[in-house]
Amino acid sequence: SSFKNAGLHPAMLRNVELCGYKTPTPIQRYCIPAIKMGYDLLAIAQTGSGKTAAYLIPILNHLMGKAKKLAAPRPPPSEAAMGARVRAEPLVVVVVPARELAIQIFNEARKFCYRTMLRPCVVYGGGPIRDQIANLQRGCDVLIGTPGRLIDLMERADILSLRRVKYMVIDEADEMLHADWETEFTKILGGGEQEEGNVKYMLFSATFPTAIRKLAKTHLAENYVRIR
Ligand code: AMP
Repeated sequence: SSFKNAGLHPAMLRNVELCGYKTPTPIQRYCIPAIKMGYDLLAIAQTGSGKTAAYLIPILNHLMGKAKKLAAPRPPPSEAAMGARVRAEPLVVVVVPARELAIQIFNEARKFCYRTMLRPCVVYGGGPIRDQIANLQRGCDVLIGTPGRLIDLMERADILSLRRVKYMVIDEADEMLHADWETEFTKILGGGEQEEGNVKYMLFSATFPTAIRKLAKTHLAENYVRIR
């Protein structure tokens, strides 16, 4: 099969082609239709399998079809030039364990969002928070970040709200299985509680320990799809 008959939005198909991707990898062949059909999912996938595009393509593709209706707040261009700010209300949040991975996913998101209404942002610990805040305030549809920094930003007044989130992705979930992870995830995942209460959750993990099973059971919809 090819990306051409995956039923993608023309802008997404063009960006996939600009990336040089010709045929979907196995994980993409399973994830793209499942996410398009609206299922939550748990995918056991290794780095190098094409897992990033496996969730970014269908999620961003869906938002492109609805960009006008969903568009996140932005300062009007005339006022942006004078430094006007908005609170960031992303539609997609991708939580990752490390800064390098966050940047890597951000770069891939940037390619898929090229010449669309969607604006991706990245936040991580160890980076200057003031710059990250200023960037968020220019408008943010897709947010990629590490857990600690995401929580820090959520706890500041009027900077970041997850109330409009439609898709919540936890990538390399097993890398985040440290002592405090239950509290952190409950905070972030709970931050998606919103108007319509219809958030899709995706968990990606290289391994499948009990803690991941448990996380899937508590946070994913009952009919979630499992992909190995
Ligand atoms: P990931 O597993 O998401 O870290 O992706 C591994 C690498 O595969 C990245 O450099 C991607 O740019 C690349 N990639 C992802 N999907 C495809 C595809 N369908 N065809 C060719 N390369 C791909």
